[in-house]
Amino acid sequence: MSEQHNEALHFAQNWQQQLGDAFSKLEDLCRYLQLPIDTLPISTTASLDFALRVPLSFAACMEKGNPDDPLLKQVLPIQDELTVYPGFNNDPVGDLKAAAQPGVLHKYYGRVLLINTGSCAINCRYCFRRNFPYQELQLSKQSEQAAIDYIRQDTSLSEVILSGGDPLLLNDARIAKLFNQLNAIEHIKRIRIHSRLPIVLPARITNELIEIFKHSAKQIIMVVHCNHANEINERVINAFSLLKNNDITLFNQSVLLKGVNDSADSLCHLSEQLFEHGVIPYYLHLLDKAAGTGHFEVPETQALALIKEVKARLPGYLVPKLVKEVAGEKSKQLVF
Ligand SMILES: *Cc1c(COP(=O)(O)O)cnc(C)c1O
Ligand code: SF4
Repeated sequence: MSEQHNEALHFAQNWQQQLGDAFSKLEDLCRYLQLPIDTLPISTTASLDFALRVPLSFAACMEKGNPDDPLLKQVLPIQDELTVYPGFNNDPVGDLKAAAQPGVLHKYYGRVLLINTGSCAINCRYCFRRNFPYQELQLSKQSEQAAIDYIRQDTSLSEVILSGGDPLLLNDARIAKLFNQLNAIEHIKRIRIHSRLPIVLPARITNELIEIFKHSAKQIIMVVHCNHANEINERVINAFSLLKNNDITLFNQSVLLKGVNDSADSLCHLSEQLFEHGVIPYYLHLLDKAAGTGHFEVPETQALALIKEVKARLPGYLVPKLVKEVAGEKSKQLVF
């Protein structure tokens, strides 16, 4: 293990340092996981298109020596990404058409989504935004004021969703400023944060961040993104507790992924583990058809059979809604 990945030292660092130390080289990740690099179906072409990025906190949940680890599969750039699948393209959910102005996606009634940053702490290979022209759409400091004005003027809005990329990669000062501006808009009742950081970089949930949330007059909801029960380690559980103990409602969304979580056992275990630690399963998404992700697809008929089996085994409140996004529709489409 290189010094960079001495775990005790690593986790003693603040979140920015941990982020800076995330794996970005295939060789380093493979060495850490004790996997001979030449035995994996790795594609450097795929990693040039969309770089490898994995925080140690997430990699530490992978099983050493297992090339089929469900967490590894989410982040490893492989040759299958270069296969062209019919129907998979660069804007599968129609985000380009929905952009009201830079950084603002207003597709659904009453809710507006702000794209504050295009970056993420982790690069998930199945991501529908892997081909997204963030430079054009993300909210710059300059266009932030215009976005706030848009929200202030539309009184049909009651909820602002901070999304991205990952909005919690913004520093505390920018989050505090955004919250202050939203706090001053009376028709906004809720601020929702869509973030994968509580899972992949739980050190981001600091007391300082909680203070910003506590000073908000709005109800705060956090939708985390966890696909497999193995992603929930002690650090993640602590982050959940900190959020929950400060009255932040926690939901989870997952993506149904072939080879990762496409079994009723895996989905049931995930729901149980989430709920045990204070998170309510919300959505299970069918894969958005982004170019380079076809090998992750679980066909809708199979997805339906899976979720029915989950429903047969779990109480209703532990069964996530199976949904898909259809370009141009006014809400997510409920499949089951
Ligand atoms: C998913 C999504 C929302 C929120 O949808 P909910 O059903 O309220 O969770 C809002 N805007 C966009 C563009 C979305 O993709
Ligand atoms: S937006 Fe979500 S799914 Fe996509 S790379 Fe970032 S964390 Fe992963």
